[in-house]
Amino acid sequence: MTAVIINGKEIAEKKKQEIAEEVKRLKSQGVTPGLAVILVGNNHASRTYVTNKQKTCQELGMNSVLIEMPEEVSEDELLSRIEELNHDPQIHGILVQLPLPAHINETKVIESISPNKDVDGFHPINIGRMMTGQNTFLPCTPYGIMVLLEETGISVEGKHVVVVGRSNIVGKPAGQLFLNQHATVTYCHSRTKDLKVHTKQADILVAAVGIPNFITADHVKEGAIVIDVGINRNEAGKLCGDVAFDEVSKKASYITPVPKGVGPMTITMLMYNTLKSAAESINR
Ligand code: NDP
Repeated sequence: MTAVIINGKEIAEKKKQEIAEEVKRLKSQGVTPGLAVILVGNNHASRTYVTNKQKTCQELGMNSVLIEMPEEVSEDELLSRIEELNHDPQIHGILVQLPLPAHINETKVIESISPNKDVDGFHPINIGRMMTGQNTFLPCTPYGIMVLLEETGISVEGKHVVVVGRSNIVGKPAGQLFLNQHATVTYCHSRTKDLKVHTKQADILVAAVGIPNFITADHVKEGAIVIDVGINRNEAGKLCGDVAFDEVSKKASYITPVPKGVGPMTITMLMYNTLKSAAESINR
């Protein structure tokens, strides 16, 4: 079997066009969606992510505000800047680029963002809403996975989904979204015994581990759908996922590549959440 490659870049472009249309509509009602991104310190990767987010906002007709703070900024200063943004009517989404310097308490910072503007979907209130199936901002990467599958015409209901990875931003919420859509979900992590016994049962296998080529063909059932969330560099410095693409794509029915798979969906869903927040602000 040769897997169909799920083209995340193409699906992200389609979604972005839809978002841009909605932005136009909102603007005609006098509301321009606005995203504030806070960047603390000078982490090179963080700066690249932030620049991409700003660029995408502009492409879609949204406002984006970058707030840069020095590495040594105090936690209080950061919290009071967030508080200002919480009350700024022009700002519908607030994103604090992680990781933060060690002297700042990340949990406290995330919890200081108004749940109504938490477009990353990391606030415990929004996580609780997600778990209970309420209207909320869904975390962008897991949300992006669900949209990829939906756009590919893959139904999740009744499928056995195995998620390898249980981080708060990817693995855990991904499993929850699958559960919300009536899948049977198994989580695996670094303490899981006999990983392959679990992964080989997956109708849909989600790899969110952060280790290049971690999932090989012998982890995968013939005909499985394989979603590779990993963004890693291999020994040659080339971008790669967690899945050994060449061998797994011969066994899977569908597979997401890296790059151009899940990656482009993450930023797209951030834009979607910012748009949603702006639209909902009209009725608040
Ligand atoms: P974390 O490092 O926070 O989590 C990794 C998870 O993998 C942990 O739950 C860990 O288990 C598990 N794990 C580690 N080693 C093993 C092992 N040997 N066997 C089974 N499980 C293992 O990473 P993230 O969730 O933040 O990210 C995962 C990957 O996704 C990274 O490559 C990251 O760059 C990428 N990523 C991609 C995004 C995108 O837009 N496409 C967005 C965010 C992340 P334990 O909990 O026991 O430690």
